[in-house]
Amino acid sequence: MKITKTLAPLLAVTAVYAFSNDAAASAKTKHMPVAATAASNDTKSARETTRAETKHLADATTAASDSTSTRSNPSTDMPDWTVVELASTINPRVLTGSDGVTNLVYELVVTNFGLNNVPLKSFQVYGDTTTEKPLLTLDSKGIAGVLQSSAKPKIGSNLAPGAVAILFVNIDLGIDGKAPDKLIQKLTYEYKDKKKVEDKTTTYETTVDKTRPIIVGAPLSGKGWLATGGYVNSGHRRSLFPLNNTLKCAQRFAIDWLRLDDQNRIVSGDKKLVESFSGYGKPVFAVADATVYGVVDKFENQPPYKASGSMEHPGGNTITLKISDNAYGFYAHLKPGSIKVKEGDRVKKGQMIASLGNVGNTDGPHLHFHITESPDVLGSNGIPYAFEQFDLSGETAEAEFMKNFYSGGILKIDKATQPGTHKNQLPKEGNVVSFPELAN
Ligand SMILES: [Zn+2]
Repeated sequence: MKITKTLAPLLAVTAVYAFSNDAAASAKTKHMPVAATAASNDTKSARETTRAETKHLADATTAASDSTSTRSNPSTDMPDWTVVELASTINPRVLTGSDGVTNLVYELVVTNFGLNNVPLKSFQVYGDTTTEKPLLTLDSKGIAGVLQSSAKPKIGSNLAPGAVAILFVNIDLGIDGKAPDKLIQKLTYEYKDKKKVEDKTTTYETTVDKTRPIIVGAPLSGKGWLATGGYVNSGHRRSLFPLNNTLKCAQRFAIDWLRLDDQNRIVSGDKKLVESFSGYGKPVFAVADATVYGVVDKFENQPPYKASGSMEHPGGNTITLKISDNAYGFYAHLKPGSIKVKEGDRVKKGQMIASLGNVGNTDGPHLHFHITESPDVLGSNGIPYAFEQFDLSGETAEAEFMKNFYSGGILKIDKATQPGTHKNQLPKEGNVVSFPELAN
């Protein structure tokens, strides 16, 4: 949310992934690793945890052991040691981007329960069967690009003993690609014990959540809206936090909307003033017929380029709309005193509800918008959504808009790869879109 070099999320905190038994029990996915002990050097506890987890995994699925296993009788032959365990934060979600590509989006928790450093060598994801070509293949360099620990955004592709990391997975299924029913993940790593060094593979299956993205109207009106912090690899996407004893990513599909003026500038004139930003004060609209679930309207604007980073109200002045029992639209950073609705109000799609501001953890006026499965601001999971209609008028690169966000320069906007009207898609990072004109 806060716009920094990495397009920081609502809360750019460095999360500590503190799992527990309760987290494992309450997580939607069945194999959340019990890693509280792995974070310490208590090897006795770690070994006990490993034994308990191995049993749990074996009970839950036969796919957890590698297909190369030579066990003939499980009562007499030792199981394979899969010292690297995989678990998923959510069942993979299906999303269609503005390029028409069907994406599968999810995260894997990777834990090294071993006593040695483990180099991760390759990661492959198959759909439904391993006899067909993998949907995704990453080598160690590719893994390093999407692997992150609680302490560092970049950790390479080696896992220290006891280390827990998150693998942020995006799978491109191609234009209008069909999602499989399940995914089979294979993570190959170098395993070392006293006798030998060998490659081992941990296999893990997940069921794909094929619920289609919720289709909504526009949160903004007219032309010049630049989508930043998109779902592929942004600060939003990586904002996985331990909240209410589970890992949640409310901002998984969030977008920060910045406005460009007629000369393609985000800001012009005195950059110390919020009024100098093209988007400041622009009307914000209900994306659906909904009930106003929550309103915060008590904070003043932040000066540009000075985010507050409040843990209590990172979104500053906010509106949460209950669209359905499992879809809540969240608007953040709204202009002080501009909110026109109160809790319990019914709103119509396209109704003006507030104005764009610069309140909370934000570096410059923009609208942060996302949809979650429950009303919990950060302690719920972001769900995929799509806009009924928008026109794609251009595209720009992150480096280009970051530079000009700070300098007040004119952005170089490239021609859109797929210009024109788009329906039921979610804009990608760097898209410049026009929404249908809405009346204030
Ligand atoms: Zn944001």
